[in-house]
Amino acid sequence: MNLFETVKAAVTPRMAAERYGLPIQQGGMVCCPFHADRTPSMKLNEDYFYCFGCGATGDVIDLAARLFDLSKYEAVQKLAADFGISGEKPSVLAKLKRGKTQAEAERHCFRVLRDYFGILQDWKEHCAPQSPEDPIDPRYAEACHMLERIGNMLDILACGTPKERAEVVADLQKDDRLMRMEARNRQIKEDEYGTK
Ligand SMILES: [Zn+2]
Repeated sequence: MNLFETVKAAVTPRMAAERYGLPIQQGGMVCCPFHADRTPSMKLNEDYFYCFGCGATGDVIDLAARLFDLSKYEAVQKLAADFGISGEKPSVLAKLKRGKTQAEAERHCFRVLRDYFGILQDWKEHCAPQSPEDPIDPRYAEACHMLERIGNMLDILACGTPKERAEVVADLQKDDRLMRMEARNRQIKEDEYGTK
């Protein structure tokens, strides 16, 4: 592990936010330091942060870099110094957290997929055309297209081997897919059900 990986494995965005004085609200939300944010719009996740207001996102190194206007390399040095991490040998803490992170990543994926699955089920039931002449609602089309795939992924996360589960997690983390799915689920729920 190089210092970048060691720092990322040992320090969560939440730990950095706490250390650098961002008041953390319920559910790991903070007021976004990167736009004029009066209600907490930034979510601190296990491995990344995401602002629902301005879209700012990244890992703990990006967070420190933006907070202190540093390069990524400087941000890693600062985090390592502030959290007592040496690049020489990965700490036991970092190793422990790495194991925990995989299980947490799986749970996180499961939660997001389950939310999306629920939305799709709802659409399939409530947005279906009532007669053959009706135009197809795009939500109904999406439900027909995606339900089985999302269902399969949920099955794998619930019952698959560790290797299969890791593949699903890796697939979802590619191109910030999971993050975008989570943000979209939330948006849909706010738009359709008026809940937050
Ligand atoms: Zn923001």
